Parts: sequence; structure tokens; C-alpha cells
Amino acid sequence: KLSQRLQTIADRVTPGSRVADIGSDHALLPVYLVQSGRSPGAIAGELNTGPFQAAQKQVASAGLKSAITVRQGNGLAVLEAGEADTVTIAGMGGVLMAEILEWGAQNGKLSDVKELVLQPNVGEDVVRQWLTNHGWLLQGETILEEDGRFYEVLHAQRTDDFARANEALYDPAFLRRDAQEVELWRGWLYRMGPYSLRSPSPLLHRKWAFELQKLERITAQVASSDQPEAIVKAEEFRKEIREIQEVLACTP
Ligand code: SAM
Repeated sequence: KLSQRLQTIADRVTPGSRVADIGSDHALLPVYLVQSGRSPGAIAGELNTGPFQAAQKQVASAGLKSAITVRQGNGLAVLEAGEADTVTIAGMGGVLMAEILEWGAQNGKLSDVKELVLQPNVGEDVVRQWLTNHGWLLQGETILEEDGRFYEVLHAQRTDDFARANEALYDPAFLRRDAQEVELWRGWLYRMGPYSLRSPSPLLHRKWAFELQKLERITAQVASSDQPEAIVKAEEFRKEIREIQEVLACTP
């Protein structure tokens, strides 16, 4: 049985898609996708030797060597154009994820890919921004909580007229903020999620209550120092806390 996190990713994969799972570790996701019949075949990519061997073992013991190819390499370098309909990347930071996508885009690895399912552990805003800047439209997002941690799963597809679609998706007008602060509130849509903020779930509030607690702890620590930089830093944290509270208070 898959973790709730990996299941949420699997559920976003369009049935019938050939999948490339990058940073696959034990290849649990591709094995599930093929075993369940959701994908006819998959590629599991891994940079590091330990996880690469674990993926090979997992695929062999599931008897899926003919349907799942395990390849060792950096990011999307393991993929040839035209081999996959869906790319999944999960369990790494958003900055690394955006680097992998950027390299892939520049090297033609994504030209035939129709769908991305991404689960950044942190830095979700970096990933959303990358998607917007590269012709992808976020189709949906899910927040989930498992073992005391919050995760976000982002689902993106290509769209004609993505520029206009993205403009509308990240238009903060629904937050009814001061028009002068559009850029600021757009930034919060990128951080907290344009779908999550339009229909806020209890999980969104729990996730950000947890983030606020963390920020308040850090602020108190920083504020206990009398260094001038610490005073500036504490003020920055307080501003961030106020903004998060304001955004949440403005959601529909
Ligand atoms: N995707 C699995 C999941 O979500 O359960 C595994 C996540 S694991 C925390 C991250 C994996 O990404 C590790 O196995 C690591 O070796 C791999 N990795 C890190 N950087 C990578 C890169 N540039 N290309 C491919 N794999 C990478």
C-alpha cells in the first residue's frame, strides 16, 4: 500500500500515460502505477547508486522489468524525447526541482511531455513560478498531512493561451486587496497556492497555522538578540507573519 503522499501523486496521473519518475528512490510510484494498470509503462530515474539499485531490486521483485526501465542519471538526462507523457518528481526541494525542469526544458526533454505531477517538500512557490514562466498551467493542487508533515502535490498541463490563463489564475483580485499591492499578494498566491486560496480547506489553515508557529518561534529567538541585523530580521519575520494572517483572513 502506498503512502497517502504517493497515492495523491498517483491519482493525478492521467490513466494510460507513460510515466517518467525522476528521483524515484525505491521506484514505489512507478511500480504502483504499472501494477494498478494506470500506466502501461514507466521509467524510474535515479541519480544516486544506492537508490538506483533499490529501484532495480524493487522492479525485479515485482516482476515488472519489461514494463519499467530503471536508469541512473541526473534529473531528466535519463529521458529521451517522446518516451513519456507524464513526468513525476517528488520528495525534493522546489529549487532543485525547478533546476531539473529547467535543464530538461533546455535540452528538449519535455517537448512531448503533456503533464507534470510535482511534490516539492519546500519551495512550492519556486515550482509554481517555473511552471508559469515555461508555458505550463497549474490544473490543480492538493495539500495533505501525513506523519505530522504537510505536503503539496501540484498538477500541471500544457495549455494554449497559457499566458492569459496564468494571468487569471494568479490574479489576486479575489482577495480584495489594495490595487497598489497586487505584486505582493500575487507573491502569496505563488507561495500558498492559487487553488488552495480560492477554496481554502481546513488543511490549508492547519498548514499555515503550523508555519506561523514556526515563524513566531524563530522571531522570538532572533528578537532576543540586540544585534542591529537581528532587529531588522525580526521585523522582516513580523511582516511576513502579518501578511500570512491577512491573506488567510481575506480568503473566501
Ligand atoms: N520520489 C520518491 C518519493 O517521493 O518518495 C523519493 C524521494 S527521495 C527523498 C529523493 C530522491 O531523489 C533520492 O533518492 C535522491 O537520490 C534523488 N535525487 C536527488 N537529486 C536527484 C537528481 N538530480 N536526479 C535524480 N535523482 C535525484
